[in-house]
Amino acid sequence: MNIYPWQKSTWVEVFSNKLKMPHAYIFYGAQGTESHKFVDELIKSVLCSSPSSENFACRKCQDCLWSETNHPDLKVVESALDRGEKVSTDTLNVANAREVKNFLELTPHQENGKKIVVIYGAERLTIASSNALLKTIEEPPNNCLIIFTVNNLANLLPTITSRCRLIAFSKPNIKDAEEFLRQSDNANLIDNLSLFNNSPLELINNKEMLSNVYIVIGELKKGDEIDLMKVNSIWLNNGLVWIINILQKWAYELLLCKLSDEHNYFPSDKEVVRKLALNADLSKLLIYQNSLNTIKSYAQKAVNKEINLNSVMIEYKNIFTN
Ligand SMILES: [Zn+2]
Repeated sequence: MNIYPWQKSTWVEVFSNKLKMPHAYIFYGAQGTESHKFVDELIKSVLCSSPSSENFACRKCQDCLWSETNHPDLKVVESALDRGEKVSTDTLNVANAREVKNFLELTPHQENGKKIVVIYGAERLTIASSNALLKTIEEPPNNCLIIFTVNNLANLLPTITSRCRLIAFSKPNIKDAEEFLRQSDNANLIDNLSLFNNSPLELINNKEMLSNVYIVIGELKKGDEIDLMKVNSIWLNNGLVWIINILQKWAYELLLCKLSDEHNYFPSDKEVVRKLALNADLSKLLIYQNSLNTIKSYAQKAVNKEINLNSVMIEYKNIFTN
């Protein structure tokens, strides 16, 4: 089994009616490696000529050996950027859609086999390429399987989503997540899981930055006594989006505590959060959240990071003063 333990239920869902598999799937709700690993295993399984009773590839047959290199019945659609070309935007264009159509029209190499096309990161499809693909999805050739992965389903055209089987990736529960951290030699990170929505992969990917997160939180805890002179380059080391994400989580925590005395991201800071929430002006806190959302919407563009951070930090300090 080469999928993450918490993906088992998704795996079972896909194979619930193996004889009547739909011709197109959209897998959504997980990022990068998490969705890649699952889809990679799914492709191997569909191509394998003698999969196990749990539908995992045998890894021994000719098809499995081929899968490791370049199976003739498989096509992974790549953007120019995926191919290592120098382009400024990462999109999948009409030429990609045409490749899909041409490939699926060929007869499968395997007897009774399927032709499989995979489009990772389908949010990169342009409107024109989505429309070009539409016809293929509407009238699919026999024995084909088209797999899309997308982080957020809302980023695909409804005309595409309505013609595919939608499968949400299952998320790890806290027990799975803790177990995964223990088994991957990251038990020391367990206390930080809530900060990453219980995603052990996201936590591991960001572990180098954890000390910076706590420097920032250490200052935020001071409320109106925050020393704005200490808001320095470390805060912007990982970019404006990164710091805005942390500020958003902290602001959410204050609001949640103020409105319902509950805690989400920073359970170990309960007492400090409660004190700050008590002193916070509710309307200022809501306006502050709004400012963070606005900055986040343009944070990836070429903007002055220092000015944006400074203004939002002055606003933060003011939440606690009358
Ligand atoms: Zn096999």
